[in-house]
Amino acid sequence: MSDVVNRAMSSAAAIEWARSIAPELTAGLALAHGDAKSVAAPWTGDTLHDLRHCTVQDVDAAESAARFAQREWSRTSFAERRSILLRAHSLLLERRRELIDLVQVETGKNRASAFEEVFAIAQAMRHTAVTVERVLSPRFRRSSVPGVVRAMVDHEPKGLVSVVTPWNYPVALAAMDVLPALAAGNAVLQKIDDQTVLSLMSLRRMLLDAGLPAALWQVVTGPGDPVGNAVVDAGDHVSFTGSTATGTRIAERLAPRLVSASLELGGKNPMIVLDDLDPDAAAALAFPACFGSAGQLCVSIERIYVLRPVAEAFIAAFAARIRSARIGPGLDYSIDMGSLTNRSQLDRVQAHVGDAITKGATVVAGGNARPDLGPYFHEPTLLTGVSPDMNCFAEETFGPVVAIHVVESVEEAIAAANDSQYGLNAAVLTGSVARGRAVARRIEAGSVNINDGYRASFASIGAPMGGWKRSGMGRRNGPEGILRFVESRTIANPTGILPLPVDGESAARMEPVYLAALRVLAALHFP
Ligand code: NAD
Repeated sequence: MSDVVNRAMSSAAAIEWARSIAPELTAGLALAHGDAKSVAAPWTGDTLHDLRHCTVQDVDAAESAARFAQREWSRTSFAERRSILLRAHSLLLERRRELIDLVQVETGKNRASAFEEVFAIAQAMRHTAVTVERVLSPRFRRSSVPGVVRAMVDHEPKGLVSVVTPWNYPVALAAMDVLPALAAGNAVLQKIDDQTVLSLMSLRRMLLDAGLPAALWQVVTGPGDPVGNAVVDAGDHVSFTGSTATGTRIAERLAPRLVSASLELGGKNPMIVLDDLDPDAAAALAFPACFGSAGQLCVSIERIYVLRPVAEAFIAAFAARIRSARIGPGLDYSIDMGSLTNRSQLDRVQAHVGDAITKGATVVAGGNARPDLGPYFHEPTLLTGVSPDMNCFAEETFGPVVAIHVVESVEEAIAAANDSQYGLNAAVLTGSVARGRAVARRIEAGSVNINDGYRASFASIGAPMGGWKRSGMGRRNGPEGILRFVESRTIANPTGILPLPVDGESAARMEPVYLAALRVLAALHFP
């Protein structure tokens, strides 16, 4: 494994720069009267800035301000909202370096993974801007006997959308929820993770500079209990991204109020490697699929099922690719994998690897923490011989650890891939897209990528993204990603072409007419 250590000076300069702009960025946060907490830069472990937490009273004040602003915002035209988003899109492309640098400094990830965030935000901004009116404009829908009743469906914003986001893709995941919520006419009350406040506030500043009223998007800080709970309690819809454990607690909390939620949760994502692809090509594709953002990615691949005829060659090629990976801090594209983001991430990765080794797994490549590079670095790690008694067999590691299992048939691979409580993302590597699609259609997951790990579906902005089973409910992106933030209303009136019965006599008179209409509709195969 080749290490890139000559970037230390520029990473130190980036940390210093982020420290210097922290006060102006955090000034945009909701007023906070709680304790202060120090936030560290993952590359060095040094303090980046001190962040004050909100109290529950601060959350209440932010909620009131957001609700007040939403009344006027809900009356703005789609054209007005569209032009703000399109202006923000231009600002994002202009100021992308600031955002990419901040994401790297706060998360420790490599530049290619940080660029994915900017790309995802840009597409979410433009797609939301140009589709929201089409998705939400009032439309006529058909009634049971066409012409007899005229039905129109329109939409109202939910009001206040509560958004809770994690630190791993702090701006992309936020944008995919916040932007459509705002474009649909809502205000947003967001609780962000302490670790990535600066990146998020940099994005928010672009929106404000593009004309978004500041009060409409309130950002609060603090722990899940009590601040996250207060944010969840405030919302008319809750959009949560994080672990399955927290998402489940939020769903339970919302049940008595019957408030809707979109929950984007954890995964244990499988990849199937078929026997019709060059092993070197497959290994090149598998590397970013498993180790993007150092594996701290909900859609990252953690289990690989490879067909026996290509298994030996694929494992050798993948191990070689891992051993040649450049890991370290740095602000350019020369680095293949960055740091883990915090101590508990490193602890979890080491615990999973240690447990697997103790119980008999083999480390084919990687396997070690790298304190020589920075406090939270860990090598990309490839394991074989992982069995159900090991923690990393079925539990999400959320780090750079992948287990390879050799299978005898495609059937066995599909069954193993589906044998999970999760169903977020999956991948198929193959020489034939048609064959890949046939396998994909049998996988129980919200997205399946052919010849890629996650970027193909992540970039499919018009298509829904979300999880089956315990990976979540609801979808982001596409029309589904906008419709979750509105209530629909059906407005219907009889046209008078055929009278609606008002008493027993008229019902008796109309019965043969309506029965005849049903027969005609059936004969015409009318939908
Ligand atoms: P986490 O659930 O611990 O925390 C996520 C966020 O929720 C944080 O901001 C946290 O402060 C907040 N929170 C905690 N308790 C809360 C409560 N009771 N009420 C409201 N908010 C609360 O998750 P994490 O460890 O920060 O993130 C990693 C997890 O997120 C992984 O499981 C990963 O797979 C998942 N994730 C999923 C997606 C997706 O789109 N499906 C994307 C990214 C991450």
